[in-house]
Amino acid sequence: MAGNLLASFYSRSRINRLLENFSLILSLFLVFLLLSGESALGARKSSTSILGIREFSTPGYARVVLILNRETFDFKSGVLKKPTRIFLDIPRGRLLKRTQIPKFSPRTSIVSRLRFGKQHQNSLRLVIDISKKNDVKYRVFTLPSPQRIVVDVWAKRTGISKPFSGEGRKRPESDKSARALRAPPRRKKLTRREMNLAQKFRQGLGRIVLDPGHGGKDPGAVGIAGLREKRVALDIALRTRRVLRRVLPGNRVYLTRTTDRYISLSDRTTFANEYDADIFVSIHANSARSRRVHGIETYLLSEASSRRALKLAARESGTTIARMTDLQKILNDLGLRSKVAESQQLAQRVQQAMLSRLRPSYRGVRNLGVKRGPFYVLLGAQMPSILVEVAFISNRREARRMNSPKYRQALAEGIARGIMQFVGAGYRKSRK
Ligand SMILES: [Zn+2]
Repeated sequence: MAGNLLASFYSRSRINRLLENFSLILSLFLVFLLLSGESALGARKSSTSILGIREFSTPGYARVVLILNRETFDFKSGVLKKPTRIFLDIPRGRLLKRTQIPKFSPRTSIVSRLRFGKQHQNSLRLVIDISKKNDVKYRVFTLPSPQRIVVDVWAKRTGISKPFSGEGRKRPESDKSARALRAPPRRKKLTRREMNLAQKFRQGLGRIVLDPGHGGKDPGAVGIAGLREKRVALDIALRTRRVLRRVLPGNRVYLTRTTDRYISLSDRTTFANEYDADIFVSIHANSARSRRVHGIETYLLSEASSRRALKLAARESGTTIARMTDLQKILNDLGLRSKVAESQQLAQRVQQAMLSRLRPSYRGVRNLGVKRGPFYVLLGAQMPSILVEVAFISNRREARRMNSPKYRQALAEGIARGIMQFVGAGYRKSRK
């Protein structure tokens, strides 16, 4: 008995101890719950608000831009069928009451409607309804200052979007006659979409977009004796267009600007996508703190190949290195480097052609090579796209050369020759 009593006393105290422990665990758990509840509240406070929506659309292409109150890489997207629509889910997303939702006309746009709704709790869903039976490709990426999420949508197979300029509208007839002159009759007529690069250019259906850097309120780099990058870039682009029209007759060469006007970086690639261009070449002039630095270099869009490439990409994009590092992450995450192999080829051809055009006539033209950097101006481009830094206008000799029309003409001929070779390379490959 005594033994039993003792045993039960012992066990009771053990139970008490267990209960004590349990209440300790319980209170800890409650504290944890409270804390986690608080952090959920905190998270709710830092919601992603949509301050505005911009759009640009044609029957074959559309860009929808959400302007946000803060940076976010936290979103999901996908395509749903029947009817075709693209969704974008933003956790903790909020649509401000005053935010205007743009309207679309299904006759003139690939998008028929934008809708917002709540998906799960706390998640905002944007639905982009696609007009009629369009099968689509799309791409989502972010841009800073202001913080934006950009959704690009293209029609898959269906016809090419019609450019919005009067020049483009006349195309079908002029193409027909050009094709009749240039190519022998074919067994089966391929559409432009079905052709490879060489076929397009051989038949006068190729399209090149040249993009003179900066412009208007943005002078770009300012070099020795007040030399301005925006002017140099425009002049070389105009000259390159002239040469290309001569050597690739019938093919289209578009310029993102032909005068001294400002265009945003994202509008430049939108322009190229809108024209369904085959090649995009952005033309710039370099500058460095050290006046001794000189040479030619060509870039393609990818993670930066060096610290200097990152710095240059930040400057050309009007942003900071910190933001550039974010962009590098996005490039990785979203696989936005799809045209890397082609862009690399185009960059090498153009770089090499500039050097071989200049070197016989000018001494000490330095080859800084083909490099990679996260350039905003190349982001979202759907075609092989490069950025050429033709010279350092902070270097005395290169600034003097850039002041000479003869040198700018030689550079233009080099760029054009590189593009021609790129097109020809595609031709040889296609015949294998
Ligand atoms: Zn520039």
